[in-house]
Amino acid sequence: MNNEHFSEPAFVSARNACKLCSPLGACFAMHGIEGCISLIHGSQGCATYIRRYGISHFREPIDIASSNFVEATAIFGGRNNLFRALDNVTQQYQPQVIGIASTCLSETIGDDVSMYLREYLSDAKNGCRPIIFYASTPSYRGTHIDGFHEAIYAAVCCMVQKNNNVTKTNRINLISNFVSVEDIRALHSILQSYQVPYTLLPDYSETFDGGTWEEYQKIPEGGTPVSGIAAMSEAAGTLYLGKALNPERNAAYYMSEHFHIPAEYVDLPIGIGNTDRFFDVLNGMTGSPMPDIWTKQRSRLIDAYFDGHKYCAGKRAILYGDEDFVVAMASFLDEIGVIPVIAATGAAGESFSRRIKESQKNIQQHLHTETKIMSDTDFATIMESAAELEADFALGSSKGFYLTRQLGIPLVRCGFPIHDRIGGHRILHLGYNGTLNLFERICNALMEAKQNAAPSGWTYI
Ligand code: SF4
Repeated sequence: MNNEHFSEPAFVSARNACKLCSPLGACFAMHGIEGCISLIHGSQGCATYIRRYGISHFREPIDIASSNFVEATAIFGGRNNLFRALDNVTQQYQPQVIGIASTCLSETIGDDVSMYLREYLSDAKNGCRPIIFYASTPSYRGTHIDGFHEAIYAAVCCMVQKNNNVTKTNRINLISNFVSVEDIRALHSILQSYQVPYTLLPDYSETFDGGTWEEYQKIPEGGTPVSGIAAMSEAAGTLYLGKALNPERNAAYYMSEHFHIPAEYVDLPIGIGNTDRFFDVLNGMTGSPMPDIWTKQRSRLIDAYFDGHKYCAGKRAILYGDEDFVVAMASFLDEIGVIPVIAATGAAGESFSRRIKESQKNIQQHLHTETKIMSDTDFATIMESAAELEADFALGSSKGFYLTRQLGIPLVRCGFPIHDRIGGHRILHLGYNGTLNLFERICNALMEAKQNAAPSGWTYI
């Protein structure tokens, strides 16, 4: 019998995916716009999953509406459901903005949401309505990061002021990435220090991390003001955090094409090199030198590198997460002499491998060691590769916990999601102080592991 046709398939399915659902990223970006509620065009399960994921990370209530597909909708289309959902959400939440994110199901059946929306908006009875924009986010076409950037792109295309006679000002547009609420607050502090008007988009630092309420707020306060998004067309420049983007379908490209606003794309400002480049671009756009406060932070960080290098230099790490996050972290690890034995992402981008190699100048030159670079991967595959690599610790979200438990190594939690600790959403990663925070977490995790493993139980390391 010829066994040729019965060989094992090369790939079966993702096992514990190292990426999340595309509309999840879109919804979180939408909640970073003032007065905005997100509406999932699909089944309730998609909205529930996203709510559940967000609540466990941010420890805040998160309302996500749904057009509530049932069997009949999957056959006859979701037009009526969408119209009813828009009416209900408008009536019950009275939002300034509704962001619609499509799902695998609505995209698979070919629902033309743009056409539905034109029809809905042209109906006179819907005259007094919120701003409504739509992001196409099927999960089979991208990750939560793709959904995040797509939602920002859709919001900007819909909401930016399109008057041809816009007067240019010294405003700066800073488009963020899927970073923590503390990172967003740090970006505000940096922009404020330059004393120029700015739009930071999205901004979920309050909507996902506000204080206590006397009464439940259906839409929490905070978010990038709608007027701030409209004013983006006046800006002197747009700075985008991240490069894992569709080059011709992102908000900075849109602003450069339609309003001739220079666009700059930088790696996430994690590590001294990346943060220096981020400030260089800001200095150029604002025409001002870096304010003194950041020079002092930078100096403290270098001092900390001196203090802690003996605990981390030469250690071996498993690094995983979103492409831009892993690339920035690899550059930071390169600065502190940590060898990433694995750099992994669930995204399928072709640039990942090149970007990781470019970020490892120190390790390539001095340590002559190889990093196993894995894209479009899952945690089961990472585990199979990690078994022989003698890593000292792992760096990434709480989804890597099983991996570190099996390997018996510490997990330094960072990125998204962190479901098994309090305050995961408040971890600071960006800027000189964010780097300092990560550096101390890594050193302390290694010191704790060494201390716990020592029979003598040192208290002085
Ligand atoms: S079906 Fe698609 S859109 Fe819905 S939760 Fe699953 S991956 Fe996300």
